[in-house]
Amino acid sequence: MGDKEEAKDLVAQHGTRPLWVIILAVCFGLAGLVLFFLPIGGVKFWTLDYLFFLASLTMIPAFLFVKKGRYLRGLFLLASLAYFGFLQTACPRPTGAIELMALHLFDDASITMHLIKVAVLILGGVLFSRYFCGWICPKGIIQEYVYMPALGFRVPPKLDRILKFGKYLSLVALVAAPMIWHFRFFREWGGPFKVIFNLDGSVFLISYLAVVLVASVFIGRAFCRYLCPIGGLLALLALISPVRMRVDGCRGCGLCEKVCSVDAITTRKGEGISIDRSECIMCRECESACKWDCLSVSGPKKSELGDRR
Ligand code: SF4
Ligand code: SF4
Ligand code: SF4
Repeated sequence: MGDKEEAKDLVAQHGTRPLWVIILAVCFGLAGLVLFFLPIGGVKFWTLDYLFFLASLTMIPAFLFVKKGRYLRGLFLLASLAYFGFLQTACPRPTGAIELMALHLFDDASITMHLIKVAVLILGGVLFSRYFCGWICPKGIIQEYVYMPALGFRVPPKLDRILKFGKYLSLVALVAAPMIWHFRFFREWGGPFKVIFNLDGSVFLISYLAVVLVASVFIGRAFCRYLCPIGGLLALLALISPVRMRVDGCRGCGLCEKVCSVDAITTRKGEGISIDRSECIMCRECESACKWDCLSVSGPKKSELGDRR
């Protein structure tokens, strides 16, 4: 079989490779560059913080569709940890942007900058699912570093299902607290990782961080799964995103389930696997693990489950 036929065959198996999505991502990036130089509505966007935020949110999705692109994920996360984490002290702060937007929604303060950040985050989530979590967020990589899958700990599924609601409650608090009580809940109480990035913090935040880090040793990305409001927002958007991990031709060996740090994969006896798209962070580790090339990131496809063999 020639390369072209093989590519066609892969597309038929795994779903569409949405070229339009890649083009769109590059267009967003270019639009971001224009915004960077042209002030809009009296707001000047030429800060490195803004440029890197926009560039990472808009350019990186293209790597989701490049076959070997997954090997660059570690590099992006490291760069993000260095730049957004330590240099910009826990930036990009989508939590801060959402809180400030909610806080100033009904007064005269300008919210244009926050609005753009939140809009890009939401658009990115709608188009490319939770790639922000898997490829950009510096808090995610810290949790990945401390996680020890060899310990073999797994939260009982029933408890896991209940705890996952925590991130949605957190999202409600993130928006409601500044809007109703003019209180930035997340800035005061909800962000344990800024202790690491700021090298400073209250006793409460240091204790919170310690609990989160210890939990993350046993549970992959414990904070992301149960507490992060941005995780909650992106988990909801992932449900409507056309781009996701898809499986085809599954043999049910369960290898991918073992490497998924967020337990988004469930192997069903004799039925292949199912992927919980609201939990999947698009890290593509499962893709690397599958010996039969059954997994890939792609656009819409007829069947969401692996075939029965
Ligand atoms: S869930 Fe939150 S902390 Fe985790 S990677 Fe996503 S945005 Fe970052
Ligand atoms: S399902 Fe695959 S891509 Fe999604 S989080 Fe799990 S290992 Fe990563
Ligand atoms: S997708 Fe691949 S690794 Fe996962 S269970 Fe099926 S055959 Fe095994």
